[in-house]
This record gives sequence, C-alpha cells and structure tokens, in this order.
Amino acid sequence: MEWETVIGLEIHAQLATKSKIFTGAATAYGAEPNTQADPVTLGLPGVLPVLNKEAVRMAAKFGLAIDATVANRSVFARKNYFYPDLPKGYQISQYELPVVAQGHLDIELEDGSVKRIGVTRAHLEEDAGKSLHEDFHGMTGIDLNRAGTPLLEIVSEPDLRSSKEAVAYMKKLHALVRYLEICDGNMQEGSFRCDANVSVRPKGQKEFGTRAEIKNLNSFRFVERAIEYEIDRQIALIENGGKVVQETRLYDPDKGETRSMRAKEEANDYRYFPDPDLLPLEIEASFLEAVRATLPELPDAKKQRFMSEYGLNAYDAGVLTATREMADYYEAVVKAAGGDAKIAANWVMGELSAALNASNKEITESPVNADMLAGMLRRMADNTISGKIAKEVFEAMWNGEGDADAVIEKKGLKQITDTGAIEKVIDDIIAANPDNVAAYRGGKDKLFGFFVGQVMKATGGKANPGQVNDLLKKKLAG
Ligand code: ADP
Ligand code: MG
Repeated sequence: MEWETVIGLEIHAQLATKSKIFTGAATAYGAEPNTQADPVTLGLPGVLPVLNKEAVRMAAKFGLAIDATVANRSVFARKNYFYPDLPKGYQISQYELPVVAQGHLDIELEDGSVKRIGVTRAHLEEDAGKSLHEDFHGMTGIDLNRAGTPLLEIVSEPDLRSSKEAVAYMKKLHALVRYLEICDGNMQEGSFRCDANVSVRPKGQKEFGTRAEIKNLNSFRFVERAIEYEIDRQIALIENGGKVVQETRLYDPDKGETRSMRAKEEANDYRYFPDPDLLPLEIEASFLEAVRATLPELPDAKKQRFMSEYGLNAYDAGVLTATREMADYYEAVVKAAGGDAKIAANWVMGELSAALNASNKEITESPVNADMLAGMLRRMADNTISGKIAKEVFEAMWNGEGDADAVIEKKGLKQITDTGAIEKVIDDIIAANPDNVAAYRGGKDKLFGFFVGQVMKATGGKANPGQVNDLLKKKLAG
C-alpha cells in the first residue's frame, strides 16, 4: 500500500513589541523571574486589559505580506483552561474572527518547482507563563514574565505533503517575519515555535486520515524528525490493524520519538466566548495603508531582483536572500566593490559563510565587514592579489589584522606581475630540472602542473597565475 502524508502547521511567532499585548509590562527575555509581572499579568481582580497598538500593526503587516485579508473587524475571545502558569484561568486569543485570514506563502521544492501553501488564518493572542521544574524539590516554580507576551499564531492549510515541505514552509515563514521585523525568530528562546498536525491516508483517497498534533517543536531539525517519526508510527499502526487516535503528542529529541500527552481537546472544551473586557478590534483603511507603506522588499521580490540586477542564478539568489542581514551584507559588498557580482556572491556564500559557521557567528557579528570584503575584492580585480592569496588575506582580516590593504602591505602579499621577474624564476627552474623538462617535451603533459607548483613555491604563491601559465607554456615549448 502506498501512503500519502498530510501536514498542517500552527506556528507561534512572538511579536517583537517592547511591552505586553494588554499591559505596559516589559517583554525582555531572560529577566529575573516575576520581575515583569504587573497586576494585569498576574490577573489580579479588577484589572483591565488595554490592547497594544504595536502588536496590531505587526499582525497587519504580516497579513499584507502574505496577501491575506486583514479584517476590518476582529474579536478577542477567552479560551478557558486551568494551568498554574495561567493565573486568569483563561487565555485571551481570537477565535471566530481572527485579524488575518486567507493568505498564502510560496515554497520552493527540491526539484526547483514552486508550491503555494495556504495560510488559513493568523490571530493575535497572549502567551502563558512558564513552569520551572529544576531547582524546586517536589514543587514547581512559576515565572510569569512571559505571560501576556504577544503572539501571532499562524495556521496553515493542510497543504503540506512531506516533512521536507513542512520545513521549507517553516523556514520561509521564519525568514519572512524577520524581514518584516515583527519577530526576532530566536527559536532557542521560544520566539518562533511550531505545532505540527500530521496524518496519513492511502494514496488516492480523498478524505484526510485522523491527525495527531505534535506540540512545541522549536527547531527545524526537530520538526523534520518528529514528522518523520510520526509518519512511520501511524503507517505501522494502521498496517497492523490499529487506528490513529486524535491526540496531542510530545516529541522527545533525546529518544527521537513522539509520545502521547493527552487526548485532543475540542474547541468546545475551551468554552470560547468574546472577552467582555475588550472591544472588537477595528482596523481602519488609513491605518492599513500606513502599514503597507512600511513593508520592506520581501524575500521573493529580492530574490528576483538579485537574479536580474546581479546576474545570479536562482540558487545563489535564494541563499543570499535567505535572511535580510545576509542580503544587506551582500549588496553592501557589491556596491562598495563595484566589480563582478558573481565573484562577490561566491565569497559571501563560500569563505565568509564557512568562517561564520565555524565560529558560530551571525553575519552581523562578522569580524570582516562588507567594506573590508569589498576592499579585498577590489585588490583581486586590479590584480594586486590572486584568488589564492585572497584566501590568506581573508583569514588575516578575520583574525583582526586589519583591512586588505594593510594585510597585503604587512605580509608582502602583493602579486608579482612583472614579466621579467617571473621569467627569471622560470628560467632557474627549467635549468634545475633538465630531466623533467625533457620528459615534458617528450609528451608527458601532466608535468606542467609540477612546473607551475615550482614557480608558485619559489614566489611564495605570489606570481600572477595567468602570467605563470602563459610564460611557462612558451618557455617549455623551447
Ligand atoms: P485545532 O485548532 O483544533 O488544532 P484546526 O482545525 O484549526 O484545529 O487545525 C489546526 C491545523 O491542523 C491546521 O494547520 C490544519 O491545516 C491542520 N489539519 C487539520 N486537519 C488535518 C489532518 N487531517 N491532517 C493533517 N493536518 C490537519
Ligand atoms: Mg491546534
């Protein structure tokens, strides 16, 4: 039997506002427990929520970016449940009327084709606090600093058909919220996390199978692995005569498996009703137009422009626009270097990215800034250094030894382009290796590399490679 997987993702993006969604308490990460918990956060009797306009602005910006409908009227609802880190006994969310509905996001599949994924809705809600189990013997600590932090919950249509597609969609969304500057995207701190709904059905069947929901996946790798595990589990279960039950599951990254957490709650378990403390949210056309004016160039548009303006292929343009920081860095290099945009792309995607990865640094923390890399590319373009020596220059710049000109000067890396000087070296090498010269002239072409190596060795790698090639060919020909 052939099986098909169906996946829908619910992604929680923490909005990058300074204060909480219904109160002025700070949202900064990592503060001492309960230092950002004012009376509204604590849910004390008699307090009233006041909506944070900035959170609305960010939700609207997201809606516009995914071509969705931004509702001119949406409603906050109480989602009732008991949990120690939810002191009010309900979470303020949106239910029947969300602020954003019916958008879409295009993802690129492995074969290069594009697939459109529907975004059912995105709604505003408040985050809960945190229960702390370490450091408390036989007890649980409650930290309410996170309670009331604004979240945008982004719900996809069940359009995804594999773990790879799910990860591609999640990455695309991650890049988008960061381009829009509405979420810092920090997955370790929980600013961007995902619930994955997974089901399987026999290929060709129209109806969806019963789904399981895997909660709180906070890395792309976990999303991929959890979904893979879940697909195998469900198929094995059905093939052995069992039935998938609708439930909430947790992924255990150490064991690489998902485990049942609780039976799936139904919407009516939550007794949703409109929050009487909050008026419906009305967004005026003028507000929306003002938000539209703040939209930056979006990743897809930037990618297209990089292809047409800089002559990059789709792959390179995709890599270079994966984050706004990377794209900005690249463009700054191209503008300052003024030379070949493809060579600049190779350096940013190659040497620079490798060095960043190896030292676990963000591009914004790179010891070699865009101006420095551009300075080095200019020295390659004007033949002061070869591509090979450039690697040495780059490494020195990375290690804080100054900009390209300073490094070239200090280390004496200037390329030898004086024909006479190179000829002199070649003559010496030919004189010192009569056997090899004879063999080469007798037809052993492969020895050419040996001679190039000798010249480079004698010049400390500084002889211009093109000239060395030409001159060697001429002299060896006799
Ligand atoms: P809930 O809020 O109860 O989790 P929703 O119906 O809003 O349920 O769906 C949540 C997510 O589950 C959506 O992303 C949706 O695309 C996805 N989904 C719904 N049905 C299925 C299914 N049978 N298989 C996989 N995903 C599904
Ligand atoms: Mg859900």
